[in-house]
Amino acid sequence: MISNSMNSRVGGKSKRSGELLAQKLQAEGITNPIVLRAIANSPRHIFIPEILAHKAYDNTALPIGQGQTISQPYIVAKMSELVLGEHGNKINSILEIGTGSGYQTSILAQITDKVYSVERIKSLQFQAKRCLRAMDLHNISMKHGDGWQGWVSKAPFDAIIVTAGAASVPEALLAQLVDGGRLIIPVGEETQILKIITRHGDSYNEQQVEAVRFVPLIPGDLL
Ligand code: SAH
Repeated sequence: MISNSMNSRVGGKSKRSGELLAQKLQAEGITNPIVLRAIANSPRHIFIPEILAHKAYDNTALPIGQGQTISQPYIVAKMSELVLGEHGNKINSILEIGTGSGYQTSILAQITDKVYSVERIKSLQFQAKRCLRAMDLHNISMKHGDGWQGWVSKAPFDAIIVTAGAASVPEALLAQLVDGGRLIIPVGEETQILKIITRHGDSYNEQQVEAVRFVPLIPGDLL
């Protein structure tokens, strides 16, 4: 598991590793400098089991326990770019569904004002909270709950990002967007299509981005 000396693991060599990862992602087509800076500054190794630490800065998804995975850095960066949009949207508040390791949460916390994040597995949420605290990020609120329902009491959000594959688009999430807000969500079963759904009043415009593969967004039952 992740060590107790979390704070001592944040700094040091990881700075250079983060920078190299950001360079790799830039070569893969990530262009937003704000996102690249957040990747360069983030110690991905603290978000994964210590035994896998040597793979922390590879551009791959890795297991984090409970049958879940930390997303591939490319997809974390890509979704973060989509949150900011081509014109560098100002995001005052964003909702993330599927905290998992908390790595994507840490990137969002560096590129937006306030992050709300919902996770259905309590032990993952607990671990993520420790990592985010070790990074000294304090603009994050977390909830143990069912992401299909969103977070009604904190809505509306400028953006919502779902980091698990949804069999269909949750109605509750559409309803929790501001006018002009964007939902970024992988939709499908085994493999998914990453979609951007933008709200215009009571209508929604959908764009397809690319094929992706996430663990499923599971409705109901909390663990
Ligand atoms: N962004 C995370 C991705 C973790 S994998 C990371 O990079 O670490 C997806 C996460 O979604 C898992 O932790 C899983 O438990 C969570 N999840 C699945 N269904 C959910 C639901 N209905 N509500 C909240 N979280 C859910």
